[in-house]
Amino acid sequence: MLLLRDENERAAAAELADAHLKLVRETQEGTVDLEAVHAVKLVTTLEAATRSALYRHTVGAAALADWLLATPEDAHEVFGRVPLLAKKDLAALGDQAFTRPLAEFVHYYESSGTTGNPVAAPKALDDLLINTVNIGELWAQILQPGDVALILINAPFAPAAYQFEKVLEYLGIMSLRPWVDNITGDYTRVLRLIAELGANVFVGPPSRLLELIQFAHRNDLPAPRFDRLLLMAEQTGPSFVAHLERLTGATAYVGSYGSSETGTTAVTCRERNLHLQTHSYLLELFDDEGLRPIDGKADRGELVVTSLDLPARPLLRYRTGDRVEITGETCACGVRTPILRTLGREQDVVTLAGNGVRQNDLEAALWSSELPGHIVFNYMLVLRSNGVVLLVTTDGAPDEAWSARLGERVAPLFEGYEVTVRPVEKLPPLASLGQYLGWKLSRVLDLNEEANWGRLPEPIGGLVAESLRQLGVGPAATEGEV
Ligand SMILES: [Zn+2]
Repeated sequence: MLLLRDENERAAAAELADAHLKLVRETQEGTVDLEAVHAVKLVTTLEAATRSALYRHTVGAAALADWLLATPEDAHEVFGRVPLLAKKDLAALGDQAFTRPLAEFVHYYESSGTTGNPVAAPKALDDLLINTVNIGELWAQILQPGDVALILINAPFAPAAYQFEKVLEYLGIMSLRPWVDNITGDYTRVLRLIAELGANVFVGPPSRLLELIQFAHRNDLPAPRFDRLLLMAEQTGPSFVAHLERLTGATAYVGSYGSSETGTTAVTCRERNLHLQTHSYLLELFDDEGLRPIDGKADRGELVVTSLDLPARPLLRYRTGDRVEITGETCACGVRTPILRTLGREQDVVTLAGNGVRQNDLEAALWSSELPGHIVFNYMLVLRSNGVVLLVTTDGAPDEAWSARLGERVAPLFEGYEVTVRPVEKLPPLASLGQYLGWKLSRVLDLNEEANWGRLPEPIGGLVAESLRQLGVGPAATEGEV
């Protein structure tokens, strides 16, 4: 797996990979004493964190002295005094989170930064190796020799595409990683490569896959078919997954869960359950009732992550902002680690007259069963003071009666508001950015919040302006045109 010229580095990497693989397998079987593993790794992690300027700013020198003295016997107790690390603190001080000189990393990456400052997320040899084994040991249940995988992730600044390429290498599966121009959105080459190479596995965000399918449809090209989809980076609920399966003929998995900052904290198995990587992270839940460790029992709250295998930039009690649920169930795949369900970002709720509408509520109405006549590929909600406009892309040219029937399906979600369905040729450009922005910012345009959009960083500000222009509500047009 590793081509390293230096003999000592090569031997050390192989030793780490072997030891970690053994730990992963024992954790999956449930035969390891995780509390003891955590205690030992916590000591190393706390010690590493004392070398990072980030924690000097957030917790102060006295706490760092405390961390430095931790032993496996009292590591859990010392950890109990570690304060939560806020997302904004990591965003502001992310370049000070390292414990090594930058040149000792193997690759530089950062988070997208579309809604704030990008956070540095370089890969070091040790964490790359561990994350690769973590993902690979579960994807091995799903992927087979002879598979050809298309990685379609248009974010070369972020680590995900490279990380998945490494996983596929680890499993001995050929992959290709083409690029799509974000401006022209031309998928001709990608569609040709899928056909010529017989790519049967898709790895990437669902909104990118929808774009690919719609491009094929608009250009009278055959729609791509896959055997398996490994989806990532976006909240993809059951109705969205079922929709993508109908469109591609594939079995869809939410492939992994994590972020550029944390690494991969959960990975899917063949039963489509996301298994927490409890050997590499100490995971907790936070809500009004406080902070508690995830012990496998059913529970829900905001996920708080402590990385135990990221010595080059350790995260201690990092608040992810993601709402998650631990199902408390035992998985039929045989792996004995807790199962995670993602519930979306805290802010991904549309509130209208006191009603909260979540992504899956809307997608269940749209996609739980196909409305006869036409396929709804994708959608965007436009909210106005007195009504809701649902923009949809479809096959063929739906008539008004069909649009009205679709409107009736979603109307109960928006009681008291007039719901209009409008089929369009192409959605505003924001709709393809769910990977970076989350559901609400990418699929819901709230015209009542128009005044706030000017503050969005570029290129998002420009894309919002372009989306508004396409809808006929840009600065030069009147609102009445929607
Ligand atoms: Zn499983």
